[in-house]
Amino acid sequence: MGMGAVSTGGADGADVELCGRCRPKWLETASLVVSRLPCVRPAGHEGPHEDAVWQTWVELPPGLVYAVAVTCVAAKIRRAFADAEADR
Ligand SMILES: [Zn+2]
Repeated sequence: MGMGAVSTGGADGADVELCGRCRPKWLETASLVVSRLPCVRPAGHEGPHEDAVWQTWVELPPGLVYAVAVTCVAAKIRRAFADAEADR
């Protein structure tokens, strides 16, 4: 841990590096500022991230996020095509 490292200077006197991860964009809620709070758990922790107001979240593997996104887009495209068919 070098000079200038992010540290809480915690009550126990130990230098604790924070994880500091923010939620992925797709988990942010526009109306909730708290949804943008970074993770306050120690760097390299296991399990879900947790922000300063004890809200937790997990980051899904990018592949899974991609799959979900593709599924959503596919549903929209199919609906659009279905509407186009219906117009004929
Ligand atoms: Zn974290």
